[in-house]
Amino acid sequence: MSGLLEWFDRHARDLPWRRTRDPYAIWVSEIMLQQTQVKTVIPYWNRWMREFPTVQALAAAGPDAIHKAWEGLGYYTRVRNMQKAARQICARHQCVFPRVFEEVLDLPGIGRYTAGAICSIAFNQPAPLLDGNVLRVLTRLFGIGEDPLEKATNTRLWDLAARLVAEAGARRPAPGRPGNCSSLNQSLMELGALVCTPRQPECGHCPVRSLCVAERTGQVESIPKLAERVRSTARRFVAFVAEEGGRYLVRQRTAGMVNAHLWEFPNAEVPDDPTDLREAARRALGPTGVEWRPFCTIKHSITRYRITLEAFEGRLTKQPARLGASARWLALEELQRLAFTSAHRKIVGRLAARETPRRT
Ligand code: SF4
Repeated sequence: MSGLLEWFDRHARDLPWRRTRDPYAIWVSEIMLQQTQVKTVIPYWNRWMREFPTVQALAAAGPDAIHKAWEGLGYYTRVRNMQKAARQICARHQCVFPRVFEEVLDLPGIGRYTAGAICSIAFNQPAPLLDGNVLRVLTRLFGIGEDPLEKATNTRLWDLAARLVAEAGARRPAPGRPGNCSSLNQSLMELGALVCTPRQPECGHCPVRSLCVAERTGQVESIPKLAERVRSTARRFVAFVAEEGGRYLVRQRTAGMVNAHLWEFPNAEVPDDPTDLREAARRALGPTGVEWRPFCTIKHSITRYRITLEAFEGRLTKQPARLGASARWLALEELQRLAFTSAHRKIVGRLAARETPRRT
């Protein structure tokens, strides 16, 4: 596999978190990269490292600040777990990121993959990792046609990943290379991202082509064997943008709910067409007697759900009782400082776009 390491030395993308060995910075990048593309993560990571440059800074940050910095990345449990982990590091390790694999694995939100990434990349330890990219590379390289998520096959893949990183770590690194364990794991991920892609991999440019069983036996298109995709489900919501004197009615999602701590406009899930707007408003706000006008329609996808959010606007003169203690009337500038769920953030963006000409 030395050809793979040399390929990585020459072709690795220059990503900001690759310019550091700081385990905290690498951890932040790994958590952000879960479910999110590299090009999306780069500005988030840069902002985050400016705002919360250390474990101590994250441990001490307020909930609004961390949610706002994460706004748009989704899966907000990740950011709350990161803060819990930072506080655990301060409580148990004097705010110094632990180096022992088991202690890293013990941190909230850190599983076997992330612990392996931190320990190998930051500390050059022979800790294996297996993400979607590495899984694809290894199954093709070794011609593993069984379902990679099935227990015995998955164990075999982890064992292979462990063997490869241990073998790399036992060799002397080339001059200028930070460490073979770090480079081996990153090179497998990079190969999966750039060359051994899900469709039409560039086998002609692959540094391990001569070793690849799938390529030699014509199985590149059929490996890895993937489970059937779960069919997506359509869901519809209506949101109510109530304005009074330049202020808008919003509420904060409470602990224990999906997207807890984020803000949103009052809303209700509705069945497929036709929508009974009055009934939806009654469920979201209680009886209002307001004439709601169409404002905008937002479409987006979360996991397996295709979501359509129709926003209506109107003037409410008093706060409905149904909203609970978290409801607030806030000016647009205040809304822009809060963390919203991604669909509702788009409503804030539409309000801002409409307000801008009024103010110029
Ligand atoms: Fe992937 Fe092709 Fe390289 Fe095999 S030869 S590891 S299928 S890119």
